[in-house]
Amino acid sequence: MLRFAGVLAIGLAASYLAIPDPVNPDPNGPRPIPAANTLFIEDMTWMEVRDAMKAGKDTVIVATGGVEQNGPYLVTGKHNVVLRGTTEAIARSLGNALIAPIVPFVPEGDIDPPTVHMKYPGTVSVTEETYRALLTDICASLRTHGFKHVVMIGDSGGNQEGMKQVAESLNQDGKGKGCRVYHIAEYYDFKSVADWLESEGIIQQPEGYHDDFGMTAMMMAVDPSSVRTNQRIAADKFRINGVELAPAQRTIEWGRRIIDFRAAATVKAIRAATQDDSP
Ligand SMILES: [Zn+2]
Repeated sequence: MLRFAGVLAIGLAASYLAIPDPVNPDPNGPRPIPAANTLFIEDMTWMEVRDAMKAGKDTVIVATGGVEQNGPYLVTGKHNVVLRGTTEAIARSLGNALIAPIVPFVPEGDIDPPTVHMKYPGTVSVTEETYRALLTDICASLRTHGFKHVVMIGDSGGNQEGMKQVAESLNQDGKGKGCRVYHIAEYYDFKSVADWLESEGIIQQPEGYHDDFGMTAMMMAVDPSSVRTNQRIAADKFRINGVELAPAQRTIEWGRRIIDFRAAATVKAIRAATQDDSP
């Protein structure tokens, strides 16, 4: 009986050993199924990320958005919605890039007592210090995994300086062998977008909302419900700054064109920055 129990124990131990450790799988284990067609890291398996990097994806985009007070029709995550469209257009155009999870936590004003957007419910703010610490750890994680170019872009004005400082300090910390971190300021150029739209005949009369035609169109291209398309049509409020948004399909096409316009300027700047900068 004792002998039988011993054999049973050895048998159980052997079969237990044959099961991989869930927190320690073989880093070189083969991917058991074909890869999905996405460039968003959080929508990929770790094996898909590994294999994409092996196949030449040496650049990663770290984009900062926000959660804040916007006009009465736009969801608080406006910048993050827009970035889902722009980052994908940028990465597809670059051809060698993946997209890190979009960073929704950025400085939006003092927390207590609240200032700026923080005076409005739903806004989430972090201090400049927290923001920089967050970006530092995100970029350092991606650097550890072997990306050669970590490219930061920001959809909101208050995001820019922190990204610039984080890029500079990571590039100087002595741990960045084979990797460089960039802040691409050219992405944040709403003036060019506004001038271009005006040259195309889209003339806006500001209504005093934290909203405009370009933002609304880009959001509609990603997710029409994020600007409350159906409710506005029902309430006869489907316009912004005096520009009609109907038919929705035409505004969605504008959104695609604006996304492509911004992506083209950003890709140009990323290529210029990374070109003669082989780490
Ligand atoms: Zn903003």
